[in-house]
Amino acid sequence: MKLKSEVSELLSDLKEQILYLQELSVENFAVDLPEVKSSKFKIQSSKSETQAQKIERFVPPEITIVSTPEKSKVSDGEANQTRRNLLESTKLSRLPFLPKRNSTVTSFANNQTEEPREKEMPTKTNTEMPSLFGDLTQVLPESSETVEEIRADIGNCTRCPLWEGRTKIVHSEGNLNAKLIFVGEAPGANEDAEGRPFVGKAGQLLNKIIESIGLKREDVFIGNVNRCRPPQNRTPTLAEAHTCRPFLWREIAVLRPKVIVVLGNTATQNLLDTKIGITKLRGEFQDYYGVKVMPTFHPAYLLRDPTKKRETWDDMKKVRDELARVGN
Ligand code: SF4
Repeated sequence: MKLKSEVSELLSDLKEQILYLQELSVENFAVDLPEVKSSKFKIQSSKSETQAQKIERFVPPEITIVSTPEKSKVSDGEANQTRRNLLESTKLSRLPFLPKRNSTVTSFANNQTEEPREKEMPTKTNTEMPSLFGDLTQVLPESSETVEEIRADIGNCTRCPLWEGRTKIVHSEGNLNAKLIFVGEAPGANEDAEGRPFVGKAGQLLNKIIESIGLKREDVFIGNVNRCRPPQNRTPTLAEAHTCRPFLWREIAVLRPKVIVVLGNTATQNLLDTKIGITKLRGEFQDYYGVKVMPTFHPAYLLRDPTKKRETWDDMKKVRDELARVGN
C-alpha cells in the first residue's frame, strides 16, 4: 500500500516536471544514467543519515573535512566543528553602505581580486553577517531610504570602470512590495540598450520561470549585482562587483523580501560572498540576513543547456512552496 502511494506520488511529480519542461519548450533531452551495481549502491540521503554525513556530502572538494579515523564514525560533535570550519571559509562580509558619489574608488588597476574598501552600514544591527548555513539571529538592517533615493545616489555613476562601456545604467525594477527578488550578474547587450534588466531571450525565459510558479513579472523585483554592461559580456571583476553590489543590498533592505532567487554562479558568489560554486549551492536555501536565498541556474545558461531546466524547476518549486508557507 505504501509502495503504491509512493509510486503514485512519483508519477505525479514526473508529470508535473514534464508539463513544466513542455512549457519551457524543451522537446527532448538525454540523460546518461550511470550503471548501478546493487552491491555498491548507496542511498545518498536518508532519514538515518547523520549530520556528519550530510556535511560531508555538501562540502566541496576544495574544503578539507576535519580528519577522522573512520568517516562512518564521525560524531555530530565533530560534525559541528567541521561545520564551524566551513563557516569560517564562507563568512559573509559586513553589510556596507556605499560611499557617496563624490567618493572615488581608486584601486582598479588590472587586479581582479582587489576589493575596494566598503564601509559598514551604521545601523543597530552592525554585527557580523550570518553564515550561509545557519545563524539566523541576524536580520536585515532597518532602512529609512527609498528605492528612488538609492537611484538618485547612483546618479551618473562612475564608481567602477564599467561606466565607460555602458549605454544605459540598468537599474533594478519591479514591484516595490515584492516578496520575491531575482538577482542576476550584469546587463547584456539588450539590457544595456534598453536600460532594463532581463529583456533579451534570457529575460523571456525568466518571465516563463516566474510564470511557472504562478506569478507575473509585475509581481516580483528584478535586478543585477552590476548595473553596467561589462565589455563583450565578460564576467565583472570582483572589484567591480563589490563596488556596485551595495546598491542592491540597500534595495533588499528597503524591500525586505521573503525569498531571493539568485541566478548563476557569479551573482551567487558575489551576493553571498562565497567561493562555493552554483552546482553545489543550487537547490538548497541559503541565508542572507534572515532572508531565504535560492541559488539556481541563470536563464542564459539554460538557453545553452536546456537539460538544466529540470533542476531549475525543482529549485523554483521550493521557492513557490516557501512563498506559500510565508503567505505569498
Ligand atoms: S557597474 Fe555599478 S558601480 Fe560600476 S559604474 Fe555601473 S552603476 Fe556604478
